[in-house]
Amino acid sequence: MSTTPTHPAQPAPSGGTRLDPWFGAYAERAHGMRASEIRALFAVANRPEVVSLAGGMPYLEGLPLDTIADAMQRLVATRGTTALQYGSGQGAEELRERIIDIVRLEGIDCHPDDVVVTTGSQQALDLVTRIFIDPGDVVVAEAPSYVGALGVFRSYQADIVHVPLDEHGLVPEALEETLTRLAAEGRRVKLLYTVPNFHNPAGVTMSLERRPRILEIAQRFGVLVIEDNPYGLLGFDGDPLPALRSLDDDGVLYLGSFSKTFAPGYRVGWVVAPHAVREKLVLASESAILCPSNASQLAIATYLETCDWQGQIKQFRELYRERRDAMIGALSEHLPSASWTVPDGGFYTWVKLPDGLDARSMLPRAVTARVAYVPGTAFYADGSGADHVRLSYCFPTPERIREGVRRFAGVVSAERDLVEIFGTSGAPDSDLTDVENPGPNLA
Ligand code: PMP
Repeated sequence: MSTTPTHPAQPAPSGGTRLDPWFGAYAERAHGMRASEIRALFAVANRPEVVSLAGGMPYLEGLPLDTIADAMQRLVATRGTTALQYGSGQGAEELRERIIDIVRLEGIDCHPDDVVVTTGSQQALDLVTRIFIDPGDVVVAEAPSYVGALGVFRSYQADIVHVPLDEHGLVPEALEETLTRLAAEGRRVKLLYTVPNFHNPAGVTMSLERRPRILEIAQRFGVLVIEDNPYGLLGFDGDPLPALRSLDDDGVLYLGSFSKTFAPGYRVGWVVAPHAVREKLVLASESAILCPSNASQLAIATYLETCDWQGQIKQFRELYRERRDAMIGALSEHLPSASWTVPDGGFYTWVKLPDGLDARSMLPRAVTARVAYVPGTAFYADGSGADHVRLSYCFPTPERIREGVRRFAGVVSAERDLVEIFGTSGAPDSDLTDVENPGPNLA
């Protein structure tokens, strides 16, 4: 059967190709959407013989699966017709009531009405971008930034301008300088995107001292802050730092998620937003999905009500701390030629490769050596970052982490030999910078 459209009232659009007759018909914003060739490599990376230090998948075997199964069984048996029905566009009230208890742990004092439930915080990023960004508007984002956020900003044709972070998070002086320059150029800066706690991919946390300074600068330039905080409760030491939203009710959109502290499979996240923004978010969400999954929301509300969720988070923190220690210990042992961040929480460390190495061109060789990572280029909108890799320690056991780092160090060492002999480790095998859609391996 031919795939070429033949309906006389609808001639085939020009610019079609044999593989995709509709190629010429896509909206401009769809043209930037390409799966990275990294994805092909990650299909291999999922094989059991490969140690994947690439993915951001939480370790779900730590969950009390039997208890959760009982709670879900009870939910469907007793409230099945509600759980399986359409729900409210803003999200189930009983879950929103619980969410305000969770965000209170980070100093946020809000009302269930201030909360919009979303399909993961990924959808929250999409909705916020959809309601604020016209093509060409500027989003200021940390360098590096979460790959999935960059993909959303690109898909709405935002112009992404990076501002560096260091071991204390986003650098206020650099933010001020960038916003001053952009204002002088007459650019419309709409959003500042930050992951203040246990950053993905950099592993760093914005210091207490910097938080009000960043907010003051954003306020002065009239820029709305997106505080993306899926890891905030996964700190290894001490209490969580106050959320940016706890310091500024009107200038911050706070994004939370159950993906890392409970389970990503439910796909439930949320936004805490000022009143007027919240209304727009609900309208945008209704047009996208009508309502978030009632079954997922009520399952999570039941979990929060019937299980010791705070005790569970404590267990996760201990588990991830042990894995962080395994990774940092193995890096110190096997890779003295590199440097890395030492995260106080979350899932990731950000490794600076020895001079002259290119994380993209090295990746196929690493996968051949049965270890996978994410090249730093995935986390920049401008193609930089080839001198870094993100290593995640959330999923493999400590033993596998040590073995993965040992293999990784072997690849780095072979690569350094190549650089020494040839002056380069070779051209990138392919353009791996266009990570439009991260997929679970990169998340
Ligand atoms: N933001 C950040 C910083 C993340 O790391 C992730 C997932 N890796 C997300 C948002 C999306 O998470 P989810 O949609 O599962 O809530």
